[in-house]
Amino acid sequence: IASKRTWWGNPMCMTCNTLLDRLIAEEILVETGIDGLYGRSGKFEDVLLRFDALISRFGDDQKADVIRFPPGMNRALFEKSGYLKSFPDLAGTVHSFAGNDKDHASLLETLEGGGDWTTGQKATDIVLAPAACYPLYPVVARKGKLPAQGRVYDLNSYCFRREPSKDPARMQMFRMREYVRIGTPGQVVEFRQMWMERGKKLIETLQLPYTVDVANDPFFGRAGRMMKASQRDQGLKFEVLVPIESVEKRTACLSFNYHQDHFGVTWGIRTAQDETAHTACVGFGMERVTLALFKHHGLDTSAWPEDVRKALWG
Ligand code: ATP
Ligand code: ZN
Repeated sequence: IASKRTWWGNPMCMTCNTLLDRLIAEEILVETGIDGLYGRSGKFEDVLLRFDALISRFGDDQKADVIRFPPGMNRALFEKSGYLKSFPDLAGTVHSFAGNDKDHASLLETLEGGGDWTTGQKATDIVLAPAACYPLYPVVARKGKLPAQGRVYDLNSYCFRREPSKDPARMQMFRMREYVRIGTPGQVVEFRQMWMERGKKLIETLQLPYTVDVANDPFFGRAGRMMKASQRDQGLKFEVLVPIESVEKRTACLSFNYHQDHFGVTWGIRTAQDETAHTACVGFGMERVTLALFKHHGLDTSAWPEDVRKALWG
């Protein structure tokens, strides 16, 4: 029964061993030749967009301001955000040709000869967004002091992280939906607590197995080790984890982050009482939850549990 319901056990594909092989064989994801960079089938997108709509229903009472940033952000603002201090290895920059006719000819010649034509590229003023909320904070700071009730935002954007992997749940380009709270420490802590409860309900509604754990970000290098430990010790990040690639390996599908005054200090965001604002965000891994649904309920969405279908398709 299990092999009928779970598509990685599909007897149609005898040579597909990994989850990724199955997804590609079943045309759920489309290969591009780069690990972590995939096309999404109509079936995959349908589930992902239905999940997106379900999040909106769960977050309806937030009356959040909706902003959809493009997947690229202002490089100067990115530099100021401090991302490079913690995650230089994950960042992606946009470079472009900025030469004359002679440079163009030499580019084509290098390309023809199999050389590295990219050495002539120049960094542009755009970098790829590493998380949906990074472009938001400077925008909020520009608006001046927060109103007494603070602010809540609803974001969704393609993000880039340089972490190529054969695990389909670890992509280089993926979508992150977020609710972001900006306000007093009390408002922000309450928001995060509320969303941790809601996040669990959301995953229960989808009938996915999960655990909740304290977590840390993959801070880079020797200094990063201390930051990891401190983030964990202070309980600043929690995750809802669901097994996706294998039963043993649990993947973070939802994250609940309390940044304390980090972005408030960086961007000079002030509360109505003229104190430094605190921020928190809840992040939904759109592809990860979609993959988890296919993994646990099978390839054929019409055969998914009735309550799950109802939650997604109404
Ligand atoms: P991980 O610990 O697995 O690397 P993370 O803690 O770095 O994930 P966050 O920075 O909290 O992830 O990002 C918010 C959400 O975005 C995560 O909960 C996850 O669902 C999703 N996400 C993060 N990295 C990836 C990725 N490489 N591919 C797909 N989804 C991702
Ligand atoms: Zn965030």
